[in-house]
Amino acid sequence: MIERAAVPGGRAGHIELDGYRFDTGPSTLGDPEALTAAFTAVGEEMSNWVDLVKLTPAYRAHFADGSTLDVDEDPDRMAAAIREFCGTRDADGYLRFTAAGSPADRANQFFADRRTRRLFGRSLFAGLAPSLYHPRGGLYAVPGAMADVAAKHGVTMRYDTTVTGVESRGDRVTAVLTADGERLAADAFVLPVREAPQPPPSCVVMHLGARARFTHAAHHSVYFGHAWERSFTEIVDRGELMTDPSLLVTNPTSTDNTVAPPGRDTYYVLAPVPNLKTAPVNWTTAMGRRYAGELMAALEARGYLDLGINLEVSHVVTPADWNRDGLPAGSPFCGPAPTGHANAYAAGGWTVRAAVVSGHTAARSVLGGHL
Ligand SMILES: Cc1cc2nc3c(=O)[nH]c(=O)nc-3n(C[C@H](O)[C@H](O)[C@H](O)COP(=O)(O)OP(=O)(O)OC[C@H]3O[C@@H](n4cnc5c(N)ncnc54)[C@H](O)[C@@H]3O)c2cc1C
Repeated sequence: MIERAAVPGGRAGHIELDGYRFDTGPSTLGDPEALTAAFTAVGEEMSNWVDLVKLTPAYRAHFADGSTLDVDEDPDRMAAAIREFCGTRDADGYLRFTAAGSPADRANQFFADRRTRRLFGRSLFAGLAPSLYHPRGGLYAVPGAMADVAAKHGVTMRYDTTVTGVESRGDRVTAVLTADGERLAADAFVLPVREAPQPPPSCVVMHLGARARFTHAAHHSVYFGHAWERSFTEIVDRGELMTDPSLLVTNPTSTDNTVAPPGRDTYYVLAPVPNLKTAPVNWTTAMGRRYAGELMAALEARGYLDLGINLEVSHVVTPADWNRDGLPAGSPFCGPAPTGHANAYAAGGWTVRAAVVSGHTAARSVLGGHL
């Protein structure tokens, strides 16, 4: 495994600031089946390496009118909650919606209430699912554990090593070349090749460490703005910032007190923004800080009172940062492109539902389906 960074994880990274630990990539972990399969493949019990806590609720939806609805993976419990929330018609609609496995863009056919249409319709927050887990220690515990297991089972992990070229013959990759002048040959390769003719939207993420806890905040909370539908047009078509921000707020310390100093809380606030192709905005530090200020105001308006004055640490990541990391159009959600070689496979998120699933798919391809 050749990695130019000093640690594993890639976009599923982490930072530590004054005793607070923040995941900088995905904050949600859905169905852990593919993850379990990776551990099982080498005869390991995943629970010996990663402590997954099931989240109840999976996430909490907060609507612009102040109402909230908790998302539960059990269809009957969810239907009962919807019945109480907005009546029998949508509760029945929910049961038909899930039984048919309908795609989100057909939600309007099943739901009458504007809020349930928003909750189950097209989403700006793709990681949300009715069943979610939190790895104790944070999402970063997952790549850390996978690297440890791989090393235990004979994988050589080469950190601080940059691949500068790929050598091929015919339709096969024969070796990769490193910045140190090494040539590493292999039978098969998994490459993070990225391409994005139509790159997905990007995001701004604020990592906040504070002396402030809010009882209304579930582990994951999604806040729908008044202008939810307009947000898609603004971000995807017009290349504008949301006039009324819809946000994903993750509060890992509500489940896991190992990620912050005693009595402190961490918040991960994700706001979808246009990618740099749709909106070639100059996300300099000043622009990033200004937008962060707007997001802080939006949070306070959504009930996170005095969060600002109780902040101890903050770190803001913008499309400029993703761009600097070489991600097309400054979007951290870009997926892999086909490599064009018979023995080289692309892994990674977004084109496939979850990053770990795509790694599983690449591994199966390398092994001719034997996994
Ligand atoms: C804020 C945020 C939220 C996200 N939410 C979700 C989500 O909800 N669901 C989801 O599925 N995905 C999500 N993603 C995307 C997810 O993190 C990525 O899809 C996933 O990490 C991709 O895995 P990967 O291994 O292909 O690529 P990466 O994680 O980008 O890893 C590629 C690795 O290759 C290394 N590398 C690159 N070039 C070289 C080179 N030349 N030589 C040596 N090493 C090199 C890099 O340092 C990096 O470690 C999110 C990302 C972010 C940042």
